[in-house]
Amino acid sequence: MNLHLMRIYAASPLRVQQMAILAFGWYWRYRRFGRAFHRLVQEYLERESWSAEQLRAYAEARLREQVLRAWREIPYYRHRFAEHGITETQLERLTLAELPRLPLLDRNVLRTQPKSLLTRTARMFPPRSFYSSGTTGRPARVYFRRLTHQHNMAVREARCFRWAGVSQLDPRAVVGAKTIVPSAEAPPPYWRFNRVEHQLYLSLHHISLKNIPDYVSALNRFQPVVLEGLPSGLYFLARFIREAGLEVHRPKAVITMGEKLEAHMRAEIEAVFGARTWEEYGSVENCVLATECEHGRMHVHLDFGILELIGADGQPVRPGEIGETVVTGLANRDQILIRLRLGDLAAWATEACPCGRNQFPPLADLYGRVCDAMVMPDGRRVAMANVFVGLDEVWEGQLVQQELNKFLLLVVPTAKYSERCREVLGERMRRLFGSGVRYEIRVVNEIPLGPGGKKRGIVCLLPPELTGPIHTSCDLRDEQMS
Ligand SMILES: [Zn+2]
Repeated sequence: MNLHLMRIYAASPLRVQQMAILAFGWYWRYRRFGRAFHRLVQEYLERESWSAEQLRAYAEARLREQVLRAWREIPYYRHRFAEHGITETQLERLTLAELPRLPLLDRNVLRTQPKSLLTRTARMFPPRSFYSSGTTGRPARVYFRRLTHQHNMAVREARCFRWAGVSQLDPRAVVGAKTIVPSAEAPPPYWRFNRVEHQLYLSLHHISLKNIPDYVSALNRFQPVVLEGLPSGLYFLARFIREAGLEVHRPKAVITMGEKLEAHMRAEIEAVFGARTWEEYGSVENCVLATECEHGRMHVHLDFGILELIGADGQPVRPGEIGETVVTGLANRDQILIRLRLGDLAAWATEACPCGRNQFPPLADLYGRVCDAMVMPDGRRVAMANVFVGLDEVWEGQLVQQELNKFLLLVVPTAKYSERCREVLGERMRRLFGSGVRYEIRVVNEIPLGPGGKKRGIVCLLPPELTGPIHTSCDLRDEQMS
C-alpha cells in the first residue's frame, strides 16, 4: 500500500477499513486464484509423477525459452552474454549442466535498474511491480503479471499446501507483513477479516501478553484450517498463548514462510497449536521454491525455478558442501531473471529422501539472512519492520534498538535524499512504535557488517533476558505475502 493510501486507511473508522479489506480481497483473489490457477495446479500435480529425467528435460526446455527470450528481447542480457562469448546457437542448445557458463546477475541490478531486465513488450506495458524486502534498505523491484502470480500460487498450492494436507482455498489465518492495524497505539481488534478468501489477517505488530486474548478469541471464533505466516510472528503468538494459559483453536496445519524457521520456534508453535508445522522457502523474485515433505526435508521445485549452489570460486558445490544460492526463474516471462544471486546459503543433501520425490532435489541445510527481534516498552515483540521500504532516497538502512524506547536509524542516502525522507521515516516509526518513540536518524556512508559478514536490517542491543530466545533470519516478501 502506498503512503497516501496508508494515511487514508489509518484515518478511517474500523467499518471503512473492513470495506477496504473486502475490496482488496476481491482484487487479490482475481489476481492470485483466477482461471489459470486451477489449470496450473493440475499441471504441477501431474509432474509429481514424472521421473527425474522427464523433469530435467522439462526444466531444460523452459530454460532455453527463457535464455533465448533474454537474448532476443533484452539488450542487457545480449550485451552480457556477448561479453562472455556466448552465441545464440549455444543458447539454443543450452543444457542444465551448462547453465554455470552464463554470467551471474547481481541483485543490485534489480535494485537500481529493474526495468532493464524487462522484455520488449513488458517495457512498453510494464506489469505490476512488487518490492522484495525493506529490511536492509533499497529493495529489489520485481515485475510480474497475473499469470506469473498464479504460477507462484499454483506451485505453492500443489507442493506446499497439498503436501501438508490443506489448501490455500481453505479458511486461513495469516500473520504476515501487511500493515492492517495502522497504529501502534490502536485499540483492539488486532485483526481484520477478508471475507472473500475466508482469511483472518492477524497484525504482526501488536503481539504481546496483554493483547493475546484478542488474538485467541479471533482464532477461536473463525476456526481457520490453516495458520500461516512469518515464523517469528507465529512463535511469539504461541509463546504468549502458553504464558497466558489460554486454550486456542487447533488448525490442521501451520505453514511458515519468509524467514528461517528455527527448531525452538517450531517446537513452541507445534506444542501450542497442536498441529504439524511445514516450512516453505521462496523469494519475491519468483525464481525458487523449496518446500518441506513429511520427512522434514526441503525439496526444490525444478519445474518452477532452477536453484544452483555455488562456492567462492563460482563453481557448483558438491552435495553436503555449503554454497551461495543462485536462481533462474522459469515462470516470469516479462522480467527475466537468469542466475540471480540471492545471497542465502544452502547445501544439497547427500542422500535421497525416503519420501521418494527425489526428482525435486532435496536440500540438507538452508540458512537465510540474520536479523534480530525488538521488544517494545508495552511488551510487544516486533521481528520485522519495513521502515525503509519503497523510499528512493534510501540506498540502505539499518534499524538499531539501543534501549526499550530508543532507536537509531542508519541511512545510506541516494542522491535523492531530502527532508521529506526524514518526515516519512518519522511517521513510520511513530506508526510502528507509538507516538512517544525516541529515535535518531544518522546518515552514514555504509552499514556495518554483522556476524558472518552479513548485513542486518534490524539490530537489537537489548540484553538477551529481555528479548528471549529469538534470533531469526529474514528474507521478507512484502505485499506479495498472502
Ligand atoms: Zn522428501
